[in-house]
Amino acid sequence: MNIIIFGPQGSGKGTQAELIARNHGLAYISTGDIFRYHIKNKTDLGQEIEKYVTVGQLVPDELTNEIVKDRIRQPDCVVGFVLDGYPRNKLQLELLNTIAEINQVIVIKLSDEEAIKRLSGRLACKCGLSYHLIFNPPKKEGICNHCGEKLFRRDDDNPQAVEKRLAIYHQETEPLFDFFKQKRILHEVDGHLAIEAVYQQIETVLGLNSKNETGLHQNS
Ligand code: AMP
Repeated sequence: MNIIIFGPQGSGKGTQAELIARNHGLAYISTGDIFRYHIKNKTDLGQEIEKYVTVGQLVPDELTNEIVKDRIRQPDCVVGFVLDGYPRNKLQLELLNTIAEINQVIVIKLSDEEAIKRLSGRLACKCGLSYHLIFNPPKKEGICNHCGEKLFRRDDDNPQAVEKRLAIYHQETEPLFDFFKQKRILHEVDGHLAIEAVYQQIETVLGLNSKNETGLHQNS
């Protein structure tokens, strides 16, 4: 099964996408994670895209599409995948439609107000987990519960970048929902609830019946 998870920044789409992938043996594809990996490791691609990511702009479609095309062709995607952060606009959706069939689409709904509140206190760890200063603090200040590494604030979680990212989501990503609505494969869930409750909504609307626990207590 091939699934897309949509949601504004701070909606927890990364956490939910990973949970679905892990509990159902699907590949997890996050374009944001791929880009952050390249930036951190200062690859040629990383140096080229850093200027877009840090200010909250979209990486050019040609680059993004090439990366997704390559990733979806990897053997682990044959069983199915969960896409997080892609497609984000019409050109990306057009490309996706030429390389894969999407079976289910989840939209995690969250108000801008709540998204801004969540992102302003978000702390990330390089192992992929994220925390919140107020709503989900780590046990030891500034340190990841899971791997013990130092937590950091994502460059693109600064107020200007957050505003830009939310505007792009409303203007370029939300208009894609109609395409999936017409195919009757789009489901909306309430992102204001706790991680476990959001996950249960997703399992229900997808008609999946996972026996696995979320195993996660982090916000994202
Ligand atoms: P995310 O982790 O999904 O919030 O993505 C972080 C950043 O990576 C975005 O603000 C963009 O700069 C870039 N990015 C991620 N996915 C895409 C995409 N599909 N198209 C263009 N840029 C993207």
